[in-house]
Amino acid sequence: MIIEGKDLSKYYGSGESKVVALNKANLEIAASDFISIMGPSGSGKSTLLHIISGLDTPTSGTVTFDGKDIYKTDDQELSAFRRRRIGFIFQQFNLLPVLTAKENIIMPLLLDKRQPDEAYLKEITELLGITNRLSHLPSELSGGQQQRVAIARALIAKPDVIFADEPTGNLDSRSGNEVMEMLKNIWKGFGKALVIITHDSRIAQMADRQFAIVDGVLSEVTAR
Ligand code: ADP
Ligand code: ADP
Repeated sequence: MIIEGKDLSKYYGSGESKVVALNKANLEIAASDFISIMGPSGSGKSTLLHIISGLDTPTSGTVTFDGKDIYKTDDQELSAFRRRRIGFIFQQFNLLPVLTAKENIIMPLLLDKRQPDEAYLKEITELLGITNRLSHLPSELSGGQQQRVAIARALIAKPDVIFADEPTGNLDSRSGNEVMEMLKNIWKGFGKALVIITHDSRIAQMADRQFAIVDGVLSEVTAR
């Protein structure tokens, strides 16, 4: 098991305005899992994603990575975990507009004072079909190309797990399908765990392990 979330609850506010965003969720992510988490808006998907990936503390419950409680380590260790072990892909791509595609891709390494592995950079950008776009600014790229740059950025630090939050939410169906195909190829080819958050059942069904979340209650839909 790479990441194990146990009895995770998250409350916002208190008294009359208390919101139970997540209610005793359990989620185990193994090395080569392809997991989807599907639920309507407001069901707790982002909350779960943030907690399981080290971005936000749960009100109760634990998240362990390689057997270690990530919220009991110091801030430095937690941020190293996020930088080195996890890759993130967002709905809005979140590329820095003043940097070229290549600069965006290698930024996580530079922030970590590491140098990119050029051979690996070449391998992933070829796989993603963006080698001839590396000197372009995000504004010069289509949505699908921007998301492929964001996927390369998520991969560059060779993480164990990739989390994708509505990765096709901003794309038309054709580029959305392309991006999903590429994510699937990357999952197969690089042996990483892939966790996709979506409200689209078609995308959810591409995963091996499918979860549903309703009002903060998470349940596995696929039999193990
Ligand atoms: P989803 O990602 O499925 O749309 P969220 O995890 O964002 O759902 O939200 C789950 C619930 O928690 C919603 O009712 C939302 O309004 C509430 N919520 C999320 N973040 C906060 C916050 N920072 N403060 C208060 N309520 C929040
Ligand atoms: P998405 O579902 O597209 O990922 P959300 O709209 O759920 O995005 O949430 C975007 C951000 O706003 C998150 O960081 C979440 O914590 C915060 N948020 C969501 N709902 C609320 C709320 N009711 N009050 C305050 N912050 C919220």
